[in-house]
Amino acid sequence: MPEPVLLLLGGTTLAAQLARAAAAFDVSVIYSLAGRTVPGPVPGVDVRRGGFGGAEALADYLRQKNVFAVVDATHAYAARISENARLACQMADRPLLRLQAPPWREMPGDRWLQVPDISAARDVAAHTALRVFVSTGRQAMAEFADDRRCWWLARVIAPGADLPILSNGQYLYARGPFQQADEVSLLREHRISALISKNAGGLATYAKIAAARDLGLPVVMIARPDAAAAPLVETVDDACDWLQNCIG
Ligand code: NAP
Repeated sequence: MPEPVLLLLGGTTLAAQLARAAAAFDVSVIYSLAGRTVPGPVPGVDVRRGGFGGAEALADYLRQKNVFAVVDATHAYAARISENARLACQMADRPLLRLQAPPWREMPGDRWLQVPDISAARDVAAHTALRVFVSTGRQAMAEFADDRRCWWLARVIAPGADLPILSNGQYLYARGPFQQADEVSLLREHRISALISKNAGGLATYAKIAAARDLGLPVVMIARPDAAAAPLVETVDDACDWLQNCIG
């Protein structure tokens, strides 16, 4: 029987922080990423990349690797992997914890336009502004590729063949965390008149929201999908406490 393993589903700043913290525990850690971007090394942690092949395959993986617990620290909008994790842990009878940053809250000075999904965000932005900053992730870019109603400035982590050409826009490549002053400069430099954002929560990408407030710009904010039912913590410290309890 292989030694007990903690499976950490990642792809977020909190997940990377937990991976580093979990390396200090006396357990093996597998840090799992979808595989679209190349992660930085995490000392003492095995990194795996790519999907498992659905919930049943993930349940098999939990049994084969002798996973004793799963922490789902994926992004709030990565609904499929979270639901798969919930189902797989149910099937394999493993404890599951959800680690997720709480959503940002609208503050005085913010001008948020709440929308249900990416298509609605694109259409609302097109009725609101001429030059729009989009930071909703590379999978959403197909929505903007042929839409010439606005000029789209799309920020993604890295270039890749999966990114469609924007017929009226350009890509920027950068990995957070970002600083508010830099975001203000970026929005000014490109004469941006609205932003489209997911409500990621956390600090790493909040600077653009604060920058929009500074400049009085509207933010078209896409609602979070329904969360898969699982015990939830919002900090790495709380996740470590849970892990300590699991280890006993
Ligand atoms: P998703 O729609 O929920 O998942 C699609 C499929 O990708 C899953 O069914 C699974 O494939 C695989 N997958 C996703 N996360 C995985 C992980 N951590 N380890 C192994 N396989 C994973 O997810 P998504 O929205 O494409 O997000 C993919 C990754 O990017 C996640 O790690 C997420 O945390 C990160 N991310 C997402 C967003 C966002 O806005 N959605 C933003 C920032 C970061 P199988 O079914 O084959 O197992």
